[in-house]
Amino acid sequence: MAVSARRATVIDGKAVAAERRADLAKRVAALKADHGLTPTLAVFLVGDDPASAIYVRNKGAAAAAAGIRVIDVKLPATASEADLLARVGVMNGDPAVNGILVQLPLPKTIAADAVIDALDPAKDVDGLHPENIGRLAAGRDGLVPCTPRGCLILLERTLGTLDGRRALVVGRSNLVGRPAAQLLLRANCTVTIAHSRTRDLAAECRRAEIVVAAIGRSEFVRGDWVAPGATVIDVGINRVTGSDGKDRIVGDVAFAEVVEVAGAITPVPGGVGPMTIACLLENTYEAACRQRGLELDQ
Ligand code: NDP
Repeated sequence: MAVSARRATVIDGKAVAAERRADLAKRVAALKADHGLTPTLAVFLVGDDPASAIYVRNKGAAAAAAGIRVIDVKLPATASEADLLARVGVMNGDPAVNGILVQLPLPKTIAADAVIDALDPAKDVDGLHPENIGRLAAGRDGLVPCTPRGCLILLERTLGTLDGRRALVVGRSNLVGRPAAQLLLRANCTVTIAHSRTRDLAAECRRAEIVVAAIGRSEFVRGDWVAPGATVIDVGINRVTGSDGKDRIVGDVAFAEVVEVAGAITPVPGGVGPMTIACLLENTYEAACRQRGLELDQ
């Protein structure tokens, strides 16, 4: 009789995110009832990138479902940097606005760094302002980027303590790779960061007990790169056209191969993506509490 290969546990990010959003909705309702405070998120969408429009719509719907008020600011692709900066300034100064999100990418005529630098760090729910990046690097409280925060939640739910584990992050973007590495370090992992100049990525992967793949290349991490029993978090969102001519979304990890080797793996879709939105809402709630000087109730 053939012995079937061991299959990894598939980490259900959609279910974890739904649970956290339901819990958050209760905390938001309590914040309203006890303190008259409705967490409010301003979302800027500049231009007409269809993927960004979908992300913004999904974020808005999830926020509304959790009782968070959303102020949508839609600007044409021709909007100037000065106009966007002025509007961000208005949101910074409005005490009723607790979180500000500027959907990236911005049109090429606008310097994203200038806009990020202009955000009030206390309202920077994407955790991209240099002050929040510095706080994370220094091990201090601050707003943490949503996607890596979601990755850590899934890892801790899957593995319990991460103390002493060897973790590899593939990717070093400010949005995902770098903050993911900082969070893993904060959780006492021994962290390696790989990138496009890493000499032998497969060998680095094989050494890791935890792999976080944030590369932006479809099904890049292969089954024979992964140590048996490792936990693999796939951040990638890549649109590919199948042999049937239909588009589908795949991750940065070759799921069909890795699921046969790993101990646990996130699927795409349904893994990290839903956690990103849940963490955005949690960041908005926490920003609102901090701005009011309230203890965080988590
Ligand atoms: P970036 O393009 O900003 O960064 C990609 C990183 O991968 C870079 O650090 C790059 O290295 C590294 N890289 C590229 N090619 C290789 C290679 N051949 N070998 C090793 N490393 C390589 O992407 P993001 O970090 O913004 O996003 C990564 C992925 O995650 C994308 O698929 C994106 O769509 C997805 N994403 C998903 C989210 C979610 O909610 N699930 C949220 C945000 C992003 P180098 O620095 O040397 O160029």
